[in-house]
Amino acid sequence: MSEIDVLISEVGPRDGLQSIDTIMPTEAKKAWIQAEAAAGVREIEVGSFVPPKLLPQLADTAEIVAYARTLPGLTVAALVPNFKGAENAIKAGAHKITLPLSVSETHSKANLRKTHDQVLDEVRKIVELLDTLPADQRPSFEGGLSTAFGCTLEGIVPEAKVAEMARKLLELGCDEVGLSDTTGYANPKQLRRLIKLIWSEVGHDKLTGVHLHNTRGLGLANALAALEEGITTLDSSLGGIGGCPFAPGASGNIVTEDLVFMLDAMGLRTGIDLDALLRVREVVTEALPDEDMYGFTPDAGLPKGYNAGGWGVAA
Ligand code: ZN
Repeated sequence: MSEIDVLISEVGPRDGLQSIDTIMPTEAKKAWIQAEAAAGVREIEVGSFVPPKLLPQLADTAEIVAYARTLPGLTVAALVPNFKGAENAIKAGAHKITLPLSVSETHSKANLRKTHDQVLDEVRKIVELLDTLPADQRPSFEGGLSTAFGCTLEGIVPEAKVAEMARKLLELGCDEVGLSDTTGYANPKQLRRLIKLIWSEVGHDKLTGVHLHNTRGLGLANALAALEEGITTLDSSLGGIGGCPFAPGASGNIVTEDLVFMLDAMGLRTGIDLDALLRVREVVTEALPDEDMYGFTPDAGLPKGYNAGGWGVAA
């Protein structure tokens, strides 16, 4: 990652599309992913290997993974809820798989219908499967710590519990863990504290990314706090697609366009061409004309005389 400072991992085709009822046609998804990769986005979570009857929006994930693999330089990521999903993701050729473990066990039982022990069993089986693969066919395996900043069912989630789950996932053989603000509860101070805690427990190299939502408008503040601590991968979604059903007007994930504008203006390298990225919205709005797209930069446009790589620096 020497030629970039921050890796943007686009999650719109998964997190965004799973949150809306409209099913995006497979060809439109391919056009979206192709355009975003062409704009310089290096990692895209293209879908989730859940049963199609649960999420018909993502029923074509295997085809999308196979297509995305043909795009040069793109890391193709997919979510897997269990062993079966991981098997399918590996078969399809995903470069990276993420299994979400909800730190709130109540949430885990409600959403995945599994206790922590049952989820950890799936992780153990996935690692056994990964260990049978030749190194060049083995995807990287992340354990996503969801509801790490609070839960809509349990409320406060103890930080010690987040650290305990991080340790367990890594002991079982995950390559990395990620912190997910599934509920949009995180604030910058809490985020900094939790990053430091996890690092002190498992080491810096085992946590490099955070997954943020913008439910309460703190998405970019949280992203900046994470970056300043030393996090190098940020999840976001184009147009913040999906929104938040409980907070009309709020985007779902942090908006990729606004995030890239912030980083680009600060002189941080993402490898993404901001103008090209802004044009990708047209691909999505054309396929989903009735869905809201969020983001301030796309509406306001770039500042007059904008120069990437250190906007605002006195000449
Ligand atoms: Zn999410």
